[in-house]
Amino acid sequence: MHPILHHDAGREAEILHNACAKAMAFLEGLERRPVRPPRRAVDVDAEAFRLPEEGIGAEAALDEFWARHADGLSGSAGPRYFGFVTGGGTPAALAADWLVSVVDQNAQLNGDTVAAALELATVTQVRDLLGLPAAFTGSFVSGATMANLVGLAIGRQWLGAARGIDIAKSGVAALGPVRVLSTSPHSSTLKAMSLLGLGRDAWWPVAALPDSEAIDPAALEARLAEAPDMPTLVVANAGTVNTTAFDDLPALVRLRDRYGFWLHVDAAFGGVAAVSPRFAGRLAGWEAADSITVDAHKWLNVPYDSAMQFTRHLDMQLATFQNLSPYLSAPVARPDNYLHLTPENSRRWRALPVWMALRAYGRGGFAEIVERCADLAALLGRRLEELGGFELLAPVTLNVVCFAPRTSGDAAAGRDAFLEALNRDGRVLCTPTELFGRPGVRAALVNWRTRMEDIDLAFAAMRDALDASGVMAAGAQ
Ligand SMILES: *Cc1c(COP(=O)(O)O)cnc(C)c1O
Repeated sequence: MHPILHHDAGREAEILHNACAKAMAFLEGLERRPVRPPRRAVDVDAEAFRLPEEGIGAEAALDEFWARHADGLSGSAGPRYFGFVTGGGTPAALAADWLVSVVDQNAQLNGDTVAAALELATVTQVRDLLGLPAAFTGSFVSGATMANLVGLAIGRQWLGAARGIDIAKSGVAALGPVRVLSTSPHSSTLKAMSLLGLGRDAWWPVAALPDSEAIDPAALEARLAEAPDMPTLVVANAGTVNTTAFDDLPALVRLRDRYGFWLHVDAAFGGVAAVSPRFAGRLAGWEAADSITVDAHKWLNVPYDSAMQFTRHLDMQLATFQNLSPYLSAPVARPDNYLHLTPENSRRWRALPVWMALRAYGRGGFAEIVERCADLAALLGRRLEELGGFELLAPVTLNVVCFAPRTSGDAAAGRDAFLEALNRDGRVLCTPTELFGRPGVRAALVNWRTRMEDIDLAFAAMRDALDASGVMAAGAQ
C-alpha cells in the first residue's frame, strides 16, 4: 500500500472528525455567512488545477481545501437562499446522507444488500405521503430533470407499443414524429426531449389561461384536434417556478381518456404541497397521470442530488431501461428491480436520507415545513406590496414571490441593478426571471430553516437594495 494511503488507513476516525469539525463550523456560521460569496472567492487559481505527483494525506488536504475555498461556498443550505428552487437538508437527512457514503451500497436488487428493499419502502411511503394510489411504482433518480426524462422515455415506449413498435429495439425514428403539448414546460422538459431523440422542436406550445401560466384545456383540445392520430405526450405542470401555477389536471385527464395521449405531470416541488391538507386539492387529478416527477432535494429537504419518478406503467419502464448481461440479475418486472428501471446501472443509495427524514419528522413535520414556507412567502409578498416600491407580478399562492421594483427607466436594467445590489448585500439571494414578457425577481422559499426572522432580514435587505440601486420611480415609496 502507498505509504500515505497506509497512514490515512490508520487515521480514519481523526479524518472524519476533522471533516465533522468543519461541517459544524459551516452550519454554525450559516446564518451569518453572506448568502452569495464574494466574487473573488468563487474563482480558483492555477494551484487548484495542479495535479500533485505525491499527495499530502487526507487531513492536510481537508485543511487546505477549507483554508482556500470555504469562503467560496454559497449559503444555499441556509434560510435565506431564495434563488431557483433550492431546498436544504434536515438534520436527519444530512446524517443519513453521510452514512450513504460511508456504507457505499450499490442500490440494486442483487441479494447482498438491504438498499433496494429500503428504497422500495421509501418510495412507497412517499407515495402515501403525497396521497398517490398504489398503482404507482417509482424509483430515485438524481433530480427532476432525470425524473422528467424517465417519465417521457416510458411514455415514448408506450406510444410505440400502442402502434406495434418496440422503440427500445427499433429506435424512435420507427415511430415518426412525436409531439409534446405543454404550456409552460420547465426547461428540463426540453432537455429531456433533446436526449430522447424527439427534438426540442417537438414542443407544440399550448395557450395559457388569461394572465396565467396554467394550460387552457380548450386550447389543448384544439391542438389535439389538429392531428388527432399523432403520437402525443402532454407535459402538465403542478407548480411552475415563476407563479406556482397548477394545470387543471382533472380536465387533462378527461382529454387524455378521449384522445389517448401520455400524461406526464412535472410536480418537482409542487407535488410536495400535497402533504398539506391546505394545498392537496391543487393536485387533484394527478392520481390518474401516467408518470409524475417529484424532487426530493427541493421541498423534501434532502441534500443533492435526489428526486423520484413515479409511473403506472412498470412494464413499459422495464422495456425501456432493462440492462441484459449474464453477470447481472435478470430483468424481472418487479418495482424494486432498479437496475432495469432507471437510467443508471450502479446507483447511489439516494433513498436513505428520505427514509430517515420521514422516520424523524413524519407527515406532520413535512406538512409544517410546507405550510410555514407558504405562510412566509405570503407575508413577504404582502410586505413588499405595502412598501410601495415593489410590485407583485403574480399573486403569491404557494411558496414563490415573483416581483419587480417599480422603476422609472428601463425595466430590465432596473431589475438587474436592484438584484445586483441585493445579492451583493449578502443577507438574501434571489434570482431573475421573466413573466408575461416582464423582467422580474423570484424568491422561492423551500428551506426548512427559514423563519419569521429571516423574512424580516430579507425584507430589510430588499428595501435597502431598492434605495441603494437608485432605480425607484419617483413617488413610488
Ligand atoms: C427544479 C425543477 C426541475 C428540474 O429539477 P432538477 O432537480 O434541477 O433537475 C424541473 N421542473 C420543475 C417544475 C422544477 O421546479
